[in-house]
Order: sequence, then C-alpha cells, then structure tokens
Amino acid sequence: MSEISRKSVIHVISSLCLRHGACVTVCPVDCIVPGPESDERWGKQYYIDPYSCIGCGECVIVCPTSAIFPEDALPKEHQEDADRNVEFFEEGPGYWNNDIESTEE
Ligand code: SF4
Ligand code: SF4
Repeated sequence: MSEISRKSVIHVISSLCLRHGACVTVCPVDCIVPGPESDERWGKQYYIDPYSCIGCGECVIVCPTSAIFPEDALPKEHQEDADRNVEFFEEGPGYWNNDIESTEE
C-alpha cells in the first residue's frame, strides 16, 4: 500500500509521456503539472500530484501514449516513475509557474 493515506488508487505518469497535455484538460482536480520544459531533470514529461489525485482514471482514457497507470498496476519497468511523480511535488518544481502561466493575460 502507498505510504500516502487515501481511499482511491493514485495514478502515475510514466516516462512514456511525450508532453501532449491532453490529460491536463480532463483532470477534475487540476493535479497534473508539466515539468518546466527547459529543466533537464524534470522537463521531459508531466507529473501527477499524488496528494491530490482522486483516482478517477479520466487521464488514462485520453493519453495518446498510454503513459498513465494506476499505481497498483504500474509495470515493473516503470516502478521508479511513481517515486519520480512524488519527488516532483516534494523536492522538484511542483506547481511552479504553471499557475502563473495559466493566469497570465
Ligand atoms: S496525455 Fe499522456 S503524453 Fe500527454 S501529457 Fe498527459 S501523460 Fe503525457
Ligand atoms: S486519475 Fe483523475 S484525478 Fe488522478 S490525475 Fe488522472 S484525471 Fe486527475
């Protein structure tokens, strides 16, 4: 079981993400954030905030690269991606200027 206490299964974006952005448009709780594109460490993909995801699965349906998995169905080769999603929000950019960009006029 995940260390994060919750009722639903959080979802994880794997390294298969190609930054199309479709998942962001359907997430009901706005918990998917792109890594800053110019950032070498974080910029290759989008990330799901494990503390906010409600496990609805809407993002899985629209992802063109099948990059998103429920945490309990994550393929072995993508296990470390779960930690990476957590690290993005705990140590990395988190919601960074994604908020600023979306409110810019
Ligand atoms: S829809 Fe899939 S490929 Fe596009 S940003 Fe989301 S996870 Fe990445
Ligand atoms: S499972 Fe639902 S709440 Fe979680 S990231 Fe995907 S769309 Fe958002």
